[in-house]
Amino acid sequence: MRIVFIGPPGAGKGTQAERLIETYHLAHLSTGDMLRAARDARTEVGQKADQYMSRGELVPDDIIVEIIRQRLDRPDCREGYLLDGFPRTIAQAESLDKMLNTKGTPLDVVLEIRVPEEELFRRLAGRGRADDQPEVIRQRLVAYRKQTEPLLEYYGKQGLLNSVDGLGSVDDIFARLRTVLDRQPK
Ligand code: AMP
Repeated sequence: MRIVFIGPPGAGKGTQAERLIETYHLAHLSTGDMLRAARDARTEVGQKADQYMSRGELVPDDIIVEIIRQRLDRPDCREGYLLDGFPRTIAQAESLDKMLNTKGTPLDVVLEIRVPEEELFRRLAGRGRADDQPEVIRQRLVAYRKQTEPLLEYYGKQGLLNSVDGLGSVDDIFARLRTVLDRQPK
């Protein structure tokens, strides 16, 4: 299965992604993880990306799209993957559609985890990552609302969107995600 996983920062996407890739044998393509690794390795891309990440802003589309283009060419993507944190803008989604259409491997499903904003802020404030300072958190939520939420309509129109309630225990949320994936045609 080729899956896009969408949710605001603090929705618990990372935790659920770990479970999903194990259960469904998917490659895990987290652009946040890739960018943090590039930043920590002090590559040119990593240092450029950090200027945006540290402010809670999105990294420019051309950088991200190129990272994903290269990643999708790797052999572990052939059996399916979970795109976690990508796409985050309409332009990224359009680039992805083009790439996948060229390969003849369109997306199967888009999963959204929904969590009310007050709850997100409360969770993020307790997490302690470098980009979890209150002002940076606020900016990341603004970026989500303005730039990423329009994807819900984009994928809704394609008939791919499935939203699940992100409140409850990790097990509850995982069960909801499984219900969606288990009804996908094999
Ligand atoms: P994440 O771990 O997914 O929350 O990503 C951490 C940070 O990396 C984000 O706040 C952005 O600055 C950057 N980032 C990750 N994925 C993307 C993307 N698809 N487009 C732009 N920026 C991204």
